[in-house]
Amino acid sequence: MSEQQKKIVYSALKPTGDLQLGNYIGALRNMVRMQEEHDCIYTIADMHSITVDCVPADLRRRTYEFMALFLAIGLDPQKSILFVQSHVHQHAELAWVLNCNTQFGEARRMTQFKDKSAKNPENVNVGLFAYPTLMAADILLYQADLVPIGKDQKQHLELARTVAERFNNRYSPTFVVPDGIFNTHGAKIQNLLDPSSKMGKTDDNTEGVIYLLDDRATIMRKFKRAVTDCGHEIVARQDKPGITNLLTIYSVIKGCTIKQAEAEFADKSYADFKLAVGEAVADHLEPIQAKYKELIADKAYLDQVMVEGAQKAARLADRTLAKVYRKVGFAQPKR
Ligand code: AMP
Repeated sequence: MSEQQKKIVYSALKPTGDLQLGNYIGALRNMVRMQEEHDCIYTIADMHSITVDCVPADLRRRTYEFMALFLAIGLDPQKSILFVQSHVHQHAELAWVLNCNTQFGEARRMTQFKDKSAKNPENVNVGLFAYPTLMAADILLYQADLVPIGKDQKQHLELARTVAERFNNRYSPTFVVPDGIFNTHGAKIQNLLDPSSKMGKTDDNTEGVIYLLDDRATIMRKFKRAVTDCGHEIVARQDKPGITNLLTIYSVIKGCTIKQAEAEFADKSYADFKLAVGEAVADHLEPIQAKYKELIADKAYLDQVMVEGAQKAARLADRTLAKVYRKVGFAQPKR
């Protein structure tokens, strides 16, 4: 694809909770793929992490772990811009301007704010309320065309589009209005112990979550305990959510179709099937984990990737922010 046609893709992961197989299948693998076709900007969104209770030492440690894992799975700082959100001060600055262009009523309608504040009534902070305008700033700073998101972020992206359009109309065209990409090669992975709910970084049911850094023994134990369904057929069907989830994981990891996976296990028991899925996942994660171990031990290299990534991001962010500051009327004295 020629440089001219390349779209700008923005994607961010919040370092709250440890990265798990759902993140890998639903987001990270696609991020690796998209590097080949687009100009990708990938962020570790630490500023979003402090909207909920968060232990400072954990946040710092996870930020490094996330960067090491990003690199270990194949995100490449030569192809994409990889950086930590708080290292680029323009995010907070644009967020303030966008706050002043967002109506209280619009932000109040966000269902994620309602859910999170209901879950944790002791810490309904203003940052949690303003989360969507910071997210809008993240995206709009880079004039992103495409934002891969899960369904849970759809309403936030809509708000980012509304605010971008409003700013463009009120002042003059400034922001690209971004489109969402919804689960391009998507598979949604469910918790192994509760196939009715999505596997998540912060699930309480951790025995049903495969973390990317789980060792082989842990992975095998979790798959052996995975909930299956009535009967003994290994087929993907609505009344078989446990088996369907395992078939989905297997087919994605092995790069085969669900039908091929069903055929492979047609005369096998649930127990054998679960062992095979566990082994496939452990085999797949092994080289990633080996690479991760090398990287996490090399803090100087991770620092270098973070610093260089932030410099590249800041150059782009500055362009947009300077335009925005000029348009809203902030004086810009010659320096
Ligand atoms: P989260 O960890 O919920 O902040 O999600 C970060 C990204 O990973 C989003 O793009 C999600 O859609 C994706 N993701 C998280 N969990 C899963 C899952 N269980 N299945 C598929 N995609 C997921």
